Amino acid sequence: MHLPKAELHLHIEGTLEPELAFALAERNGVTLPYATTEELRRAYQFEDLQSFLDLYYALMAVLRTEEDFTELADAYLARAAAQGVRHAEIFFDPQAHTARGVPIGTVIEGLSRALERSEETHGVSTQLILCFLRDLSAEAALGTLDAARPYLHRISAVGLDSAEVGHPPAKFQEVYETATALGLRKVAHAGEEGPPSYIREALDVLGVERVDHGLRCMEDPELVARLVADRVPLTLCPLSNVTLRTVDTLKDHPLPEMMAAGLLCTVNSDDPAYFGGYAGDNFDAVRDALALDPEQLRTLARNSFEAAFLDHDEERRARYLSEVEAYAFD
Ligand SMILES: [Zn+2]
Repeated sequence: MHLPKAELHLHIEGTLEPELAFALAERNGVTLPYATTEELRRAYQFEDLQSFLDLYYALMAVLRTEEDFTELADAYLARAAAQGVRHAEIFFDPQAHTARGVPIGTVIEGLSRALERSEETHGVSTQLILCFLRDLSAEAALGTLDAARPYLHRISAVGLDSAEVGHPPAKFQEVYETATALGLRKVAHAGEEGPPSYIREALDVLGVERVDHGLRCMEDPELVARLVADRVPLTLCPLSNVTLRTVDTLKDHPLPEMMAAGLLCTVNSDDPAYFGGYAGDNFDAVRDALALDPEQLRTLARNSFEAAFLDHDEERRARYLSEVEAYAFD
């Protein structure tokens, strides 16, 4: 669907398509444990979040140089633009690369090269969100933020991702306080596989402005009331939820109930190369499976721009919102 939208929950490493993975593997002399792109695609059958993460981290071995990161981001932006994305706030996982000996500067400079020319090349404005891997230590997160200091002009926010259960947000209180002091915005994954209490912690202890996923808030009516009253955006990823079995089928997805409850929901693609579709594909999928009407779809698109970190450029936000209003559904 080409409805104009902002993508606010997108891991750039999760946009690595099998074809690019093989091309980069060959260029960098990395041997993948798969013979063909078809064989690799067949490996994209996941039991849960952890089984996905195992393959996700294994494939990152092909990303070595600035050029690799530029190509990765450029390929994503082209696909996103073709599906109506006008603004993208892109997550990256520096620790997944520094652990392999790739310097954080290589990652950030490589991604930034694609992001800086994206508006001209693809008509997509961009921001970069540095994520901490929550299954690593709080000290490691602090070290990562410290290493990123020379590049902070390229980064708008910090986030928290990877294996959620057993790694509550409060573990990262100190690094989020440091990020605040550095002038960064704050988001965190919470309530995907973890309990509603993780969403509360992300709000109360980390001070996040958006909750990534947040699906399990629906188990806690008081929390829902708070998220509605405070207009806290939730970055939902429907196809991801089905692939990782957070919901059984797309028809079981609580998006309509969440919208009816007044939550500020957005629809995003998470790791589109692995989960069967980009932002527009996610919009198509929820329209078809959940019978969303054009006004509900327009609300989701409007929400995405309202939830975007565009406070420094309200003129741009207003322009995007007017594109949403002007969009004609066929
Ligand atoms: Zn995610």
